[in-house]
Amino acid sequence: MIERFATKGLPVFATRDWHPANHGSFAEFGGRWPSHCVANTSGAEFSPSLRLPADAIVISKGQSPTEAGYSAFESTDFERHLNERGVRRLFVGGLATDYCVLTTVRDALARGFAVVLLVDAVRAIGDGQQAIDEMVALGAAAVHDEDAA
Ligand SMILES: [Zn+2]
Repeated sequence: MIERFATKGLPVFATRDWHPANHGSFAEFGGRWPSHCVANTSGAEFSPSLRLPADAIVISKGQSPTEAGYSAFESTDFERHLNERGVRRLFVGGLATDYCVLTTVRDALARGFAVVLLVDAVRAIGDGQQAIDEMVALGAAAVHDEDAA
């Protein structure tokens, strides 16, 4: 899908957790997750198998110690970038279905964007189906690879 969008000259956004070392979501600071995606460490890098176009726009989230940073819209310039490019519909994949994907899709729908959830390009930590059901109930279209071809 990334390749398909890049070929058509459509914007590709890559969001990432970009946490301070003392992020509030980390267990040692009272949160529920192990330390992860600390800014400027290898843990915050994109997977080398994720082939992003050179002009992909990177959105870093969760930069404040006190913000969850699940949603790509939370304290980022994501929405401004979308509006500047006239984007009205988002095709969403990523991790994790039941946290960052769900929260981002909720925020996108609440802001009036149409959302297509790429079901084969998401993976959950817990109950992914429940999260997908919620996104669909809120208005997202859930498609599989064969539907998107
Ligand atoms: Zn995080």
